[in-house]
Amino acid sequence: MTYRGRFAPSPTGRLHFGSLVAAVASYTDALHHQGEWLLRFDDVDETRTLPGAVDGILTTLDAFGFEWSAEPASQSDRVDLYQAILDRLLTEDLAFYCGCSRKEIEAVGRPGTDGPLYPGTCRNGLPRGKRPRSIRLRVENKTVRFVDRFAGPVQQNVAQQIGDFVIRRADGFAAYQLAVVVDDSIENITHVVRGADLLESTPRQLYLQQQLGFTYPVYGHIPLVRDACGKKLSKDDAARALTLNNPLPSLLAAWQFLGQVSLASDITHVSEFWSEATRLWSPARVPIATGEV
Ligand code: GLU
Repeated sequence: MTYRGRFAPSPTGRLHFGSLVAAVASYTDALHHQGEWLLRFDDVDETRTLPGAVDGILTTLDAFGFEWSAEPASQSDRVDLYQAILDRLLTEDLAFYCGCSRKEIEAVGRPGTDGPLYPGTCRNGLPRGKRPRSIRLRVENKTVRFVDRFAGPVQQNVAQQIGDFVIRRADGFAAYQLAVVVDDSIENITHVVRGADLLESTPRQLYLQQQLGFTYPVYGHIPLVRDACGKKLSKDDAARALTLNNPLPSLLAAWQFLGQVSLASDITHVSEFWSEATRLWSPARVPIATGEV
C-alpha cells in the first residue's frame, strides 16, 4: 500500500503536548504502514507567523526523534498555486465573489455548525453597490459522508450546516480549507491523521476535492487534548510547552493518551521508543473523538 502522511503545524508559536499527540499519531501510523511522513508549515496567513517558530518546531521535532521524508513545505510558497485554483473555480462558476461583511452575515444568517450560514446575498452576482471582498464556494444541497478511521461514520450536509464557505478571505489570503485541499493533493497525501477539531472541516474539504476532481485521502481524527477547563490547548499555553532535554516522558504520555498498550518499562532512549511504537501501534485502540461534529 502507498502511504503518504503529513503533519501540518501552524508556525504561530511553540509545539505543545496537544501538537505532540497529533505528531506522534500521524508519524507512528506512517511508520507502522512503511509509509512516508511529510512536514508542512501551515503559514497561509503570513501575518500570524511568529518569527523563529518554524526553526523552533523543527528543533523540537528533531529532539523528539521525528524524521521527515522530504524538505518541509510551506503554504506561503504556494500563493500563486492557490490563486490559480481560485481562478479555475471562478471560471467554472463553482465559486463566486462575495461583498458581504461578517457583520452583515451575522445579522441575517441562521446559526450553522461553524458560525452563521451564508444567506446567499451575492450568489447570483454582486448586488449593486457591493465590492468584491471574499470568494466563496457554491455549495449544493447534498450530504457528504465518510468513515473516519478513529471517529467512525460522519455525515454533514455542507449547504445546510455550513453554507457557501469562504475559500479566499477578505484580506486576500487563501482560506485554510482551500489551501489544505490543494496541499494534500499536490503532495499526494494518502492518509491524514490530525486533531478532532478539524473533523467538522473535513466534509468541506471532501466537497472541494470533489469539485476539483482530486482524489480523497483517508482521514483519521484523534481526540483533542484539553486543559483542566476543557479547552483545547493552545500554542500560548506556556505550561504545556514541551521540554527538549527530556523528550521521553512526553512521548510516553502521548502514547498513553492515544490508548496504546504499555511499552517495555526499560525504554531509556527516544530511538527505542520509536521502534517499539512502530511495532505496536494499533489504530483500533485510538479512543473515539466525541462531541466535535
Ligand atoms: N495547521 C493545523 C493545526 O495546526 C492542522 C491542519 C491540518 O492538519 O489539516 O492545527
